[in-house]
Amino acid sequence: MLADTYGRIATDLRVSLTDRCNLRCAYCMPAEGLDWLPKPELLTDDEVVRLIRIGVERLGIREIRFTGGEPLLRRGLAGIVARTAGLRPRPEMSITTNGIGLARTARALREAGLDRINVSLDTLRPEAFQELARRDRLPEVLDGMAAAAAAGLVPVKVNSVLMRGVNDGEARDLLRFCLAHGYELRFIEQMPLDAQHGWRRANMITAEEILAALSEEFVLKPDEPDERGSAPAETFLVDGGPARVGVIGSVTRPFCAACDRVRLTADGQIRNCLFAREESDLRGPMRAGASDGELAGLWRRAVAAKLPGHGINDPTFLQPDRPMSAIGG
Ligand code: SAM
Ligand code: SF4
Repeated sequence: MLADTYGRIATDLRVSLTDRCNLRCAYCMPAEGLDWLPKPELLTDDEVVRLIRIGVERLGIREIRFTGGEPLLRRGLAGIVARTAGLRPRPEMSITTNGIGLARTARALREAGLDRINVSLDTLRPEAFQELARRDRLPEVLDGMAAAAAAGLVPVKVNSVLMRGVNDGEARDLLRFCLAHGYELRFIEQMPLDAQHGWRRANMITAEEILAALSEEFVLKPDEPDERGSAPAETFLVDGGPARVGVIGSVTRPFCAACDRVRLTADGQIRNCLFAREESDLRGPMRAGASDGELAGLWRRAVAAKLPGHGINDPTFLQPDRPMSAIGG
């Protein structure tokens, strides 16, 4: 098991498959992009699958989420999914993607064994998409979502980040759109993880503001009010259900005490928290010939050192050196 000293067990592995991206979302990356990791530093497909296998067979990992950067840019993605589906016990597999290219790949990913998908969609207005993601590609995202649903990757989950002055007036439009298409919407509070360190608390649209905006049009009833479990989203039944909407208040309503996640970066570092300031290298030892047992031991030690919380609300908080796109959101 991957246990820490606060009684939490990590069972959910987030695997970043690349730090590259074809969008430049303002809350994530600067307009000019970043210095991408050099290819030799990236784990190969075989190395990724070996570490996932160690996690599943030896360390109690039960869920795998592929992310990035943009995971659909990883050429070997369908193969990695298929090989992960062959592990026992078979983990649940999902992908978080910006949806570009999904129209072409959704079916192949489903056939490879992918169970679920999260598509990030912050706006339904092309001008706002251009401003927020700095690319004019909204139609491809919408087509990708439809293709995912048609391929049976249901329910398609949608992640939205609201930014003051850009898309903060769209909470209700996004929910209406998702309800109409059978997508499950979750809003995420903007976190201080952008490469350009532009996050300001005052500019963050809080969970409370989002819920207030939605409540002007919809009746929201807390779903499972006493049991948030390890799922970070607080979910609400919309207009009596069965449709739901979620709000992830990572900053104002932290869920660290129930966190069951651990992360593997595209260059083979274990991070025990999104906000960790230290990481543990598995790539070096693996390339130097470490056995599965030795790698599992390093991984266990990395998780054991997990801190109780992310500390965003402490005066001494320091943003991690790696931005979200290189950690794997
Ligand atoms: N490129 C894929 C995508 O956009 O879905 C996967 C990687 S992206 C880093 C994963 C998720 O993190 C997306 O839903 C994105 O909206 C979210 N995200 C990125 N930067 C964020 C930030 N500063 N605060 C909150 N969420 C953020
Ligand atoms: Fe790319 Fe996802 Fe970051 Fe947007 S949030 S720039 S799509 S990695």
